[in-house]
Amino acid sequence: MTERSESVRMPALFLAHGNPMNALEDNRFTHSLSALADDLPRPEAILVVSAHWLTRKTHVLTVANPRTIHDFGGFPKELYDVQYPAPGSPRCAQAVCDLAPVVRPDDAWGLDHASWTILRHMWPGADVPVFELSLAADAPAETHWELGRRLAPLRDQGVLVIGSGNIVHSFAGINWEPGAKPQPWAEEFDAWVADALVRGDSHALIEYQRAGAMARLSVPTNDHYLPLLYAAAMKTDSDAVSFTHAGIDMGSMSMRCVRFG
Ligand code: ZN
Repeated sequence: MTERSESVRMPALFLAHGNPMNALEDNRFTHSLSALADDLPRPEAILVVSAHWLTRKTHVLTVANPRTIHDFGGFPKELYDVQYPAPGSPRCAQAVCDLAPVVRPDDAWGLDHASWTILRHMWPGADVPVFELSLAADAPAETHWELGRRLAPLRDQGVLVIGSGNIVHSFAGINWEPGAKPQPWAEEFDAWVADALVRGDSHALIEYQRAGAMARLSVPTNDHYLPLLYAAAMKTDSDAVSFTHAGIDMGSMSMRCVRFG
């Protein structure tokens, strides 16, 4: 990593992405993303921990010019036409491997929609290098938390770490009607997690299944929840926790976004 003239510790973020169509929208959520980017120090690079890149071990994207991956089906052509031609950051990917040798370099993946659907609202010029970290699909929640802690020094190297997922992500409860009412369990679990974040209760966040039925319904698979653990594990004692956006879309998709520091 290069020497930085001044030491700025980057915040760590957890950002919702939800419906990929948000990439093309102009709404309260997308406005919150652009306002957030305007309020951040300019990163040297952005590391997205992606809900949409599941591997057996943890991988980090090392390519210099990542491709834009349209990893979904059934959306309008306009969405498949979106490109996000940000450069990668092989140098910062190496820094990830140095901090956590368990992480494997990967030159086959690109930027999936957990990255570009949000980043095009934050850095529309695609002029900040972006790389991704995968989720080791079978690892327990504690392992994800520990890896987040291990990677926390990236914040002092100018890297903005963004966990990209959704605290509540359930297709069983989804309602595509405009203005759909949130499922009560979705609201309840989203609030339960928000409370744990404010209290800095790492045990509750890791052992979220103890929240019972509302957790089972809200997190039927943990791929969209786990990116939160990476960002939360990077919080220091002096970091404030704030919610830059909140709300439940489509009945069962939490759009809560969290800023640490
Ligand atoms: Zn997703």
